[in-house]
Amino acid sequence: MGFFFSSSSSSSFVFFFLAFLQLFSIVNGRNLTHSSFTPFNHDLYHSSRFIAKEIKGLVVRHPDRLRMETMRAQNKGYNAEVLVVTYNRARKDVNDSSKFRILLSFGQHGRELITSELALRLLSSLSEEKSIPNVDLSSLNNILEKIVLKVVPMENLNGRKRVEAGDLCERRNGRGVDLNRNWSVDWGKKEKDYDPHEENPGTAPFSEPETQIMRKLSKSFDPHIWVTVHSGMEALFMPYDHKNTTPDGLATHVMKSMLNDVNRLHCKDRCLVGSGGGSVGYLAHGTATDYMYDVMKVPMAFTFEIYGDKEASMKDCFRMFNPVDRTTFNRVVNDWSAAFFTIFKMGPHWMDLVHFNSSKLESIDEYLEGYLIERSSRYGKRMEVLDLGMQEIRTYFRLFLLSSVLLMFMFCSRISKSKYATIRPIVSAVSL
Ligand SMILES: [Zn+2]
Repeated sequence: MGFFFSSSSSSSFVFFFLAFLQLFSIVNGRNLTHSSFTPFNHDLYHSSRFIAKEIKGLVVRHPDRLRMETMRAQNKGYNAEVLVVTYNRARKDVNDSSKFRILLSFGQHGRELITSELALRLLSSLSEEKSIPNVDLSSLNNILEKIVLKVVPMENLNGRKRVEAGDLCERRNGRGVDLNRNWSVDWGKKEKDYDPHEENPGTAPFSEPETQIMRKLSKSFDPHIWVTVHSGMEALFMPYDHKNTTPDGLATHVMKSMLNDVNRLHCKDRCLVGSGGGSVGYLAHGTATDYMYDVMKVPMAFTFEIYGDKEASMKDCFRMFNPVDRTTFNRVVNDWSAAFFTIFKMGPHWMDLVHFNSSKLESIDEYLEGYLIERSSRYGKRMEVLDLGMQEIRTYFRLFLLSSVLLMFMFCSRISKSKYATIRPIVSAVSL
């Protein structure tokens, strides 16, 4: 009996202990699932294999406008491949090299899955297989014939595969290097809050095959516009990322006004706009956009951040970087597809403004140089005395012309805005 009693009391203790454990694990499990770690949503998000297959299907069905290639590179036994899709509606009477060139890259960071979904939606829309609310694709035919577009849907395929395998916070490539710190502009500089798990720049600039491929692609394509698409917040960034200023010159004003237009039309003015380093709260060294602007001389180079959940905890990466319900998912891919159609439409016009400004300034300088040389040779040594005065006159003259150009630019952008207002319903009024 004693035995029975003791056995019964110990079994009831075990029972209550197990029940407690069960209860604890349910509560804790719910905690983990719902507030700390949102799992990969396979209903909303496609695998990289599926995205590649879908894109191949589009290319096969639309050979008149799409083609694709796979670029490969390797370094020290690490291999990478990057799928590049070219959209070009070839017309015999239009010379390809004279077309407006746009290079878009998605998925540079593994965990930002929504960006590659946007790439897929954009390519489906360009193939007219999917529509975008409030965007009349057939009315854009004229515009789309004048551009060549290269799209990299999954820049960091190896990193993305790690995320698909369950490492939901991975942003780096397949061997732990952040592809947006591996470029040569201000490479390797580390801020005080440097976190190697997030921002490892690699052993040297361009140590990573993915970055090598992107550099090669941008060199051969020589784009007018570069956009690298990210998520984690809502922002439209222009250079620089490695310092908290924007570049000098009037081209900066054009870039800023372009981003303001995109923000107003497609981000409901929610997006942060400005230099990456100045707006985001930290400096980033060795980024793609700084390289594209500074070294490749891409006149308009941007980083778009298309979505972020500020409420998500730092460890809940899937939710922080990607919409988790279908309504938000569709809103994000539709809004940003529409934003890219605005860029396709307005890009050449923005480029004219950049060219207009820079060519005017160069010619003013040349004109003044020529004028001064002519004066010097005509008046010989006497001119040396007047040199200082002439320098001042030159400065005033340049300032005067600069302000005239600025006024002209403002005038032009007003005209463009009013012109734009008349065609605005085509791309705006997106259901945000
Ligand atoms: Zn990113």
